[in-house]
Amino acid sequence: MFRLPSPLHKIENELTEEFRVQLYLKRDDLIHPDISGNKWRKLKYNIAQVQQQQKDTILTFGGAYSNHITATAAAGRHFGYKTIGIIRGEEHTPLNESLRFAQDHGMQLVYADRTLYREKALEVILRDTPYMHDIEQYYILPEGGANEYALSGCREITEEIEIDFDYIYCACGTGTTIAGIAQGLKKHQQAVGISVLKGVDFLTNELIRQQDKHVLHQLAFDTNYHFGGYAKTTPELLDFIQHFYSQHHIMLDYVYTGKMMYAVLDNIQRGKFAKGTTIVAVHTGGVANANVFNLP
Ligand SMILES: *Cc1c(COP(=O)(O)O)cnc(C)c1O
Repeated sequence: MFRLPSPLHKIENELTEEFRVQLYLKRDDLIHPDISGNKWRKLKYNIAQVQQQQKDTILTFGGAYSNHITATAAAGRHFGYKTIGIIRGEEHTPLNESLRFAQDHGMQLVYADRTLYREKALEVILRDTPYMHDIEQYYILPEGGANEYALSGCREITEEIEIDFDYIYCACGTGTTIAGIAQGLKKHQQAVGISVLKGVDFLTNELIRQQDKHVLHQLAFDTNYHFGGYAKTTPELLDFIQHFYSQHHIMLDYVYTGKMMYAVLDNIQRGKFAKGTTIVAVHTGGVANANVFNLP
């Protein structure tokens, strides 16, 4: 059911040949059809906590297109926990595919206006719902699953890789995944997070700031590949994803992995890597919600 360790797939094309670099894709998108990619990595030890703390419900937060919401709903169903999703903004009917998927997997959806959502004002958000009285039974998982248990799960991405590599690249929303990846590095290795958001300083993120000095030293962020901001695309990015698919038969999404892969190949093209460099790019999943053949 869970395909772990996830496969490591070699990518060869004109660029890797011309610049003599080795490029691999860590296929976390193949871990599970519904709990894919880094969302499973982030959930794994949180689910263990739910069990250990003997809670019966996972309550979490996300936007209306959040991969974290769909993954949490599917994981709840799979492991036998109830799930509540606090969704940012108003309800729109009919539900979009992500929210319908979550609801079909048993998640109770509660909508919160942006201010309450930002303040995570749970007592107020849940006040007029049937879910208020069980609040001690809830395991509260932050937005995007961003906590220390998520870091431990993401660290396993690095630990599973058996080849020696120089760089590892991953798309960043909260930056949790790349921070976990960086924890697992050997001394000579470098992690690079490609921001899919515009104007974010990941180094102000609490979870990242708390990392050991040596982890921070091996972690860099590249903010040049957001293509206009979160879930924004350009014809160039969409062409790239189509082209990558026709060449390698691997689907990327336009929110996260398309931008990350574009960045890796662009860096190769710009001669950033010495001959013989080995690069691992992490396919963090997310394709079901946002591939180029399925634009919203
Ligand atoms: C959520 C997500 C990310 C971002 O992960 P963070 O830990 O928030 O940085 C990257 N790729 C995909 C496919 C995602 O769904």
